[in-house]
Amino acid sequence: MNPREMYLQQLEQAVPFLTVEPEYIDMLRYPKEVLELSLPVRLDGGGVKIFSAWRSHHNNALGPYKGGVRYHVEVSRDEVVALSSWMTIKCSIAGLPYGGGKGGVAVDVRELSRNELENLSRAYAFGISRFVGTDYDIPAPDVYTNPQVMAWFLDTFEKVKGWSEPSAFTGKPVVIGGSLGRSDSTGKGGIFILREALKGVGLLGKPLTVGIQGYGNVGSRAHRFVEEDLGLKVVAVSDSAAAVHNQAGLKYSEVSKFKEETRSLKGFPGGEELFPDLLFEQKMDILILAALGGAVDEKNAGSVKANVVLELANGPITPEGEAILTDKGVLIVPDVLANGGGVIVSCFEWIQGRSGDTWSEEYVYSKLDERMVRSFGEIWSMREERKISFRQAAYVKAVSRIVDAMRFRGIWP
Ligand code: NAD
Repeated sequence: MNPREMYLQQLEQAVPFLTVEPEYIDMLRYPKEVLELSLPVRLDGGGVKIFSAWRSHHNNALGPYKGGVRYHVEVSRDEVVALSSWMTIKCSIAGLPYGGGKGGVAVDVRELSRNELENLSRAYAFGISRFVGTDYDIPAPDVYTNPQVMAWFLDTFEKVKGWSEPSAFTGKPVVIGGSLGRSDSTGKGGIFILREALKGVGLLGKPLTVGIQGYGNVGSRAHRFVEEDLGLKVVAVSDSAAAVHNQAGLKYSEVSKFKEETRSLKGFPGGEELFPDLLFEQKMDILILAALGGAVDEKNAGSVKANVVLELANGPITPEGEAILTDKGVLIVPDVLANGGGVIVSCFEWIQGRSGDTWSEEYVYSKLDERMVRSFGEIWSMREERKISFRQAAYVKAVSRIVDAMRFRGIWP
């Protein structure tokens, strides 16, 4: 399903539980502005290739636009707009002083050399330099972008502007103003939320098993913290090349080392190798989705064995998939709450950059935990009181706060 359609349906499902003027809902259906770029990049062989790229500003009632930049061959304008809309909802849920933005470049990074990747990243940063800034729009990493890419973005931006502005980008390497704990933050925050959800359904402390789809930044960290912080056993993991299953357990230290060395889970010797999509069919109590959007839909939702699904990816379950899981009594912990750890620590990085202060990792984690527990509590109690889905409660909470801000601001010009 088109991700924009997905966002619109999710918003629609919250409308009956909101007391807001319809014009504000209308405004949340559209992005405020979208920059579209064609980026000519010089390749190592001498030729030039043109890449399509976008930066979407969805809503800034609560503060400057905030959101990552995705490099993926299937990135489209609609996907970038949908992701920026989800950022508006996510930042509101987390109580951050931000609106929603997102960027994307249609590229298969595996086809580029390091030099070509740098050229492309600098071309993108140059293209968006008039569209971003500390108090306007603050990009960060997403799929296939990382602290090195953020460093190229920042360096290009600062050279174009002629001044230092570290808080214009987050997710940077620590040495140039990144925050301790930022790389772990989405996984870490997701596991804080999982802990609260298990507490809510009376399962915390039980010997549960876990499966993880996606083994990049977010999925691998989720593996680590599910083991370290919750003491749970991970029995299946997957990436785009393969799934690995072992009911006796897959250790984070072994799987992550193998993935780091070979850049793939294919050939991991510690379990049975399967096609990636067969991960869902394995016996597990908790499924963590940490790959791409639309992973669970009407075709495969029936085969999901888990009773709890934690959405760390953005938009990983289609509305049709969600209906099937809900009928089976599965608890879905929605993305806009569960994966907010990344943007929350990005906000901590932004604050540190503006003040010149540096925070310890311990302090970052304790502030992250506090914020995530607060957001979880508000949404969980609304879900219980109003007998609505977890996602509906999250949207009701988020939209109410955004609309409050929009009312004070008024509709002008
Ligand atoms: P990443 O590029 O580091 O990792 C993505 C992983 O997904 C890779 O291991 C890839 O092999 C795997 N994958 C792709 N297709 C797959 C498939 N069909 N089956 C199984 N695995 C597959 O990206 P990331 O930063 O870890 O982001 C993962 C998800 O989390 C994305 O949806 C992203 O938008 C979301 N997210 C990321 C952050 C962040 O801080 N990085 C924050 C919030 C949300």
